[in-house]
Amino acid sequence: MDKKIEKQFAARAVELGKSGDAAVVDELLKLSNCSAFHVKRLAVSALGKLAGKVDSEKVVPVLLARVRDSNAQVRQYAIKSLAAYGADCVSALHDLRDIADNPSEKDYNRRDAKQAVEIIEEAIRIRKEKIIKHCQKCNVVIDSDEYSRSMKAFQRPYCDKCFDEAYLRRRNYDTEVELNKEIRANDGTLVQSAGELKIADWLTARKIKYRYDERIRIIDGYAIRPDFYLPEFDVYIEYWGMDTIDYKIGMLKKLKLYQLQGKKLISLYPEDKNNLDIILKSKLSKYIQLT
Ligand SMILES: [Zn+2]
Repeated sequence: MDKKIEKQFAARAVELGKSGDAAVVDELLKLSNCSAFHVKRLAVSALGKLAGKVDSEKVVPVLLARVRDSNAQVRQYAIKSLAAYGADCVSALHDLRDIADNPSEKDYNRRDAKQAVEIIEEAIRIRKEKIIKHCQKCNVVIDSDEYSRSMKAFQRPYCDKCFDEAYLRRRNYDTEVELNKEIRANDGTLVQSAGELKIADWLTARKIKYRYDERIRIIDGYAIRPDFYLPEFDVYIEYWGMDTIDYKIGMLKKLKLYQLQGKKLISLYPEDKNNLDIILKSKLSKYIQLT
């Protein structure tokens, strides 16, 4: 597909997801079938954002098909989006359990599938057994749709009103990051910069498992979003790539959080890019034995 058209479709998918408008669902369903996986991924993700507003009978089967997509990242977003449809996803449980148990599936997809199964099962219980759940912020009683939508997005139960407030704050940031992930690393992960690409490929070449740009809760109430997390060694890698004041303030806050929590953190900077092999090796060898 032509790069320029692909870009337009990608931006359109994000915009439609942001609109929160049920009327755009057909256009999104169409985009979720696009030949460019980047567009497909964003459309599938946007469909997850419309959960609770659109006819799930229309959307869930499409997401379910994308859960079997040949591209691992399309599968990932389909799995996550399904979780948002909660109790309406009974038909997806079987496939999601298969993915969670499949040793040849990517670790992140197995983990997300497991999480989705838990959210969907709990949402079904809330609906069927009339289990009372409360919003973690304002304490009103929430229904199964509110439960699954907020658990998918925030890993905690919020009522729709608190969800929208929290969501608005995060949405703009997330959208920007997702759109910027355009560089494809050797293992297929989409990253944001040449520096991150080098780090990803370096780790892949050494068969070191990593999770990229994933929200990790380090203590209750605090979430960080490390550039790279090495689950086998519990080591974090941050590539401090930008040079604006806002960015630096954020960086100091983040550094402090790592420090307070006693986390193993490796900081890399743009000037390290050309000597990455030596620098990353020496910094990592503090925490893990490299062969
Ligand atoms: Zn609330």
